[in-house]
Amino acid sequence: MPIDPILDPSVLAKELSGYHLINGKLVAPKNGKTFDVLNPATGKVIGQAADGDADDVAIAVAAAKAAQKDWAERPARERGKLLAECGRILMSHAEELGRLVALESGKALRTESRVEASVLADMFVFFGGLASELKGETVPFNPNMMTLTTREAVGVVGAIIPWNVPMMLMAIKVAPALVAGNAVVVKSAEDTPLAVLRVCQIMQEVLPAGVFNILSGFGPSCGGPLVEHKDVKKVSFTGSVETGRTVYRAAAEKLIPVTLELGGKSPMIVMGDADLDKAIAGAIGGMRFTRQGQSCTAASRMLVHESLHDEFVKRLIDKVNTLKMGDPLDEETDIGTIINRKQFDKVCGYIEVGEKEGATKNELSALPTDSALSDGLFVRPVIFTNVDPNARIAREEIFGPVACVFKFKTFEEALELANDSDFGLAATVWTTDLKTALVATKRLEAGFVQVNQNLVVQPNLSYGGIKLSGLGKEASLESMLEHFTYKKTIILNME
Ligand code: ADP
Repeated sequence: MPIDPILDPSVLAKELSGYHLINGKLVAPKNGKTFDVLNPATGKVIGQAADGDADDVAIAVAAAKAAQKDWAERPARERGKLLAECGRILMSHAEELGRLVALESGKALRTESRVEASVLADMFVFFGGLASELKGETVPFNPNMMTLTTREAVGVVGAIIPWNVPMMLMAIKVAPALVAGNAVVVKSAEDTPLAVLRVCQIMQEVLPAGVFNILSGFGPSCGGPLVEHKDVKKVSFTGSVETGRTVYRAAAEKLIPVTLELGGKSPMIVMGDADLDKAIAGAIGGMRFTRQGQSCTAASRMLVHESLHDEFVKRLIDKVNTLKMGDPLDEETDIGTIINRKQFDKVCGYIEVGEKEGATKNELSALPTDSALSDGLFVRPVIFTNVDPNARIAREEIFGPVACVFKFKTFEEALELANDSDFGLAATVWTTDLKTALVATKRLEAGFVQVNQNLVVQPNLSYGGIKLSGLGKEASLESMLEHFTYKKTIILNME
């Protein structure tokens, strides 16, 4: 039965309240417990999430395990067609999904949430088209033996997702896992359980029951049991470094493979010959000011050549000042809110630390004046200048609208500063010189390096970091093959 879009996100939030989706159906948690979901722009309760635990994990994993066998036995292209069809249906729900994720996450609809909904749909179309690429090889091992490899599904995949781009980050786990013949159980993030639940519900129009299940609940009580469940054969996690370590340890006990997409403190090097207009636009987009900086790839360390530094800072400040903070659902709004009180306190704490560390604080844009938003978690974007590269604000991931701008003299100094980080997710360099661009792309220690642009995750571009930014890649054909299948070697002796 086709599901009609519900464009009022408050109505939709209530309809979805209190459920997991297991084996094709919305179901209440076994323990009957729920927790509130808040609108971070008002502090008001918009609905409830099921407070799942190990009992629900057991039910969901059993459903996934039962459904996976038939799913894996279908022709690959049939799975692919179904996923592409999911993408098309999700696209027809893009507006409602954008509105719902804006309501629960505080991300502005026009600049962020609507964009996320369409990228989500596109990811399913893209991975659906990769079904025929689940190919193996023949190996010239022995003329009397036919030797070949095949790609096999791993079984049930556990996916644990964060709140900043919940639908898209779920899509880059669920779509490749499903097309490869696995079944999936997702554990949603506490703050954003509703839009992803709706995505899963919409996909039930097309998918067989049980191949895609979603649970909500808290990390230790619901995510933990999912990782530990004996029938979960692979875990894909996006979140903080600390939780990534916990997940990795639990997976190590079972010796199962894990993909981890963790934090970042991404550098953006602006050379003296850079096109300043492009660099300023890239800094605004790259720093994700419109998402309150809540991005693992945020270009939060801007390293600018001394000849351009002052002009860069001035123009960046002017530009950020034009961004309008306000109700995430208002079409005029550029910047929404921080996700929750804990993050809000953390970000404000870092801004205080930065001042204590002696950096110069430029606090920009204006808080909304609408009284309905007076309890909203709005933080004014901050650009720190005169920052000591060893300061905490220069080294630790803030996950908020706080950027540090540094001045450098030589290219070598810029590369050293850029690489002097525990993280290695993304990096950009801004230059009009080909050789500088090539040297920088070679020497920057990061998994996703761009020249003169600052794009986000794209279908078919491997995305993932090194160092504390994680393990493994997502969003591409190789990531689907490497992370959601295993290679089987088969030898037929014909003697
Ligand atoms: P944040 O601090 O922003 O909440 P986390 O890394 O803790 O970031 O959360 C990312 C995801 O990991 C969320 O879905 C969260 O519920 C989940 N999570 C948190 N703790 C655990 C855990 N011990 N085991 C499994 N998942 C967890």
